[in-house]
Amino acid sequence: MAKKPEQLWTTPAGDALRWVPGTDLSALDPAATPGWTGDRSDGEKLLAARAPELADLQQRLYAHGRTGGDRSVLLVLEGLDTAGKGGIVRHVVGMVDPQGVMHRAFGVPTQEEKEHGYLWRVRNALPRPGHLGVFDRSHHEQVLVVRVDRLEPEKTWRAHYDELNEFEAEVAASGTVIVKVALIVSAAEQKRRLAERLDRPDKYWKYDPSDVDVRHQLPQYMAAYQELLDRTSTQVAPWYAVPADRKWYARLAVTELLTGALRSLDLGWPPARFDVEAEKARLAAS
Ligand code: AMP
Ligand code: MG
Repeated sequence: MAKKPEQLWTTPAGDALRWVPGTDLSALDPAATPGWTGDRSDGEKLLAARAPELADLQQRLYAHGRTGGDRSVLLVLEGLDTAGKGGIVRHVVGMVDPQGVMHRAFGVPTQEEKEHGYLWRVRNALPRPGHLGVFDRSHHEQVLVVRVDRLEPEKTWRAHYDELNEFEAEVAASGTVIVKVALIVSAAEQKRRLAERLDRPDKYWKYDPSDVDVRHQLPQYMAAYQELLDRTSTQVAPWYAVPADRKWYARLAVTELLTGALRSLDLGWPPARFDVEAEKARLAAS
């Protein structure tokens, strides 16, 4: 008998991808599909099959928030340009009701943002109760681009690791389940994706000449990611390192992580705050 698509996970995505501090990031193959034994077509089938459950779980979360609940989920997406952050938002987050999603992309801080501490804009973007927050880049840029481009002295950015952990512990304690995803794309695949942006007029808008400069800093970014993963993977806010050369795999993997986070909330439907039978009778008589 043919296997059900979910049985093609020999190890659940959460276990296969959860970062173990001290692991060598350069040994991770960006084209690998950890835990998954199916091919692309199987992966796309399972992704589609997950949609109803993901949407149902998110709707429970939203209903919970609307009825006084305080839980929320925060999906943090980090990764170099072309790693596929936007694709995750469209294809994974896009499966749920946008009403319950609080999406925020973090770019170069604006003048106003610069006048505050780096966590200010992040705090303002945290998901409200009942919401699924999605960060496209995040507070972790403070030890990524800030470190690699030397935007702050080393002593300053080094202090951020502990601050990031304290901040996330506080967010988790307030009722938010945090899922941090680092999308790992290879230099070769990144080059291919950038070349495509230059070949297609419908992709010019995604291209930024500074993306090529980043290619000359890949070793520095790898070192920054290695330390980020090692030092900010915590019990309450673990990192998942997701190989991203195969977009279908990265999307499927994040779908599993997100589904797992929502399932862990174990939310039922809020009970009626009115007398159902009495309301039925009133409606019938109306
Ligand atoms: P994109 O994700 O392609 O829209 O690009 C956003 C840009 O903003 C990237 O080059 C990031 O490195 C940059 N960025 C994000 N956060 C920060 C930050 N805290 N400080 C400086 N640059 C940042
Ligand atoms: Mg960009």
